[in-house]
Amino acid sequence: MIVGGGIGGLALATHLARQGIEVVLVEKAPQRRTMGFIVGLFPNGVHHLRLLGLGDAIQAVATVVPLLEVLGADNRILARYDLGRLAPPSTLVVERECLLEGLARTCPVPVRYSTTVEALRQRTDHVLVRLSDGSEECVDLVVGADGTASTTRQYVTRKPPARSAGFAYSICWLTEGVTEGATNILGHGGMIGLYPTRSGRVGALFLHRQGGSNTQACLRTTFSGLSARVDQILEQIPPNEQFLSRREREFVVRRWRRGRVVLLGDAAHTLSPVLGLGASLALEDAWQLAQAVTCSDPLEQRLASYERHRDRRARSALRASWLVHLAASVTGSRLVQRPWSWLLRSVVLPGYFAWLSRFVSAHSSSFESP
Ligand SMILES: Cc1cc2nc3c(=O)[nH]c(=O)nc-3n(C[C@H](O)[C@H](O)[C@H](O)COP(=O)(O)OP(=O)(O)OC[C@H]3O[C@@H](n4cnc5c(N)ncnc54)[C@H](O)[C@@H]3O)c2cc1C
Repeated sequence: MIVGGGIGGLALATHLARQGIEVVLVEKAPQRRTMGFIVGLFPNGVHHLRLLGLGDAIQAVATVVPLLEVLGADNRILARYDLGRLAPPSTLVVERECLLEGLARTCPVPVRYSTTVEALRQRTDHVLVRLSDGSEECVDLVVGADGTASTTRQYVTRKPPARSAGFAYSICWLTEGVTEGATNILGHGGMIGLYPTRSGRVGALFLHRQGGSNTQACLRTTFSGLSARVDQILEQIPPNEQFLSRREREFVVRRWRRGRVVLLGDAAHTLSPVLGLGASLALEDAWQLAQAVTCSDPLEQRLASYERHRDRRARSALRASWLVHLAASVTGSRLVQRPWSWLLRSVVLPGYFAWLSRFVSAHSSSFESP
């Protein structure tokens, strides 16, 4: 049984069904969720979409990102991430809705919407699951693919204390294109990421220190006056925009499995959207768990191997995220503006960004297998 019909759950259901395994897929939402903005797909994520047979379909609705420019508040180029140089396939930005639609179309398993797990009891060779629609299922394995607020996680482990780099993030659409390519602007202790999509809309990700119920006001307090270009970007936020706004929380669980219950995707590792690796990692998890489930070793051994590989990978991504936040904090701080900080501005930061670019690139273009 897979709990959660999001990116990871749908991918896993497809892999398993193709290997002839019977899957029950339950989803709490009443229908496929359409909320969501842009999702970054690095070469590792695109590779796994290809394994699902979705490579061309997603490529057709996605924007290829050959280059990501990082600018300072004064529009000076701090770094250029040459993403086109990464091992093919390319780095993409896709609307979350298109990705979910593609995954749902490919998935041969019917999704049982408006359904969740009420209780489960583990036995030596099976799990008894009581569902919210009143039915009971007897299954070999339960996979918690139910996202960052997972309730399946309680059967495996406690959520570890979440780490926060002290930022909140808000994602929205801009009304008009304010950039031709993917761009990150750093300044005043925050960041604006701009990602054009195939439909012509630009997805904007704001990383800001201040939270609050009025996101528009928070963004203006943090960013207005930074530069004419930033003011122009703020003008392009529609007046009644429905932001996806959250306080940033990152974690990797200490345990991924207990008996016959195992975690996947955001339920096991939630990362800041700044790195754009959430969807790619969930697709990797799905493929590796499918490989583990279908090999002939004893189940305990197979799940242990999945946990070992994925835990190492997720912790490495967490470190990369920390390094990106460090870059955003230092570049956006007043320290960099001081006249005597020229060494920091001209040598240390460009060198750091060049190294960071290589670190993140290496991380997101390796297709490891268990
Ligand atoms: C609404 C939304 C918008 C997002 N927008 C962006 C974005 O713009 N950019 C970006 O980079 N990342 C975004 N993300 C995060 C990114 O999509 C995730 O990192 C990635 O999808 C991880 O995949 P997953 O399968 O682990 O979790 P998800 O794709 O979040 O899927 C989890 C699924 O489980 C379901 N579920 C939750 N609880 C239960 C339960 N108790 N029982 C049954 N089902 C349950 C949820 O409804 C959801 O369908 C968004 C996530 C969400 C939920």
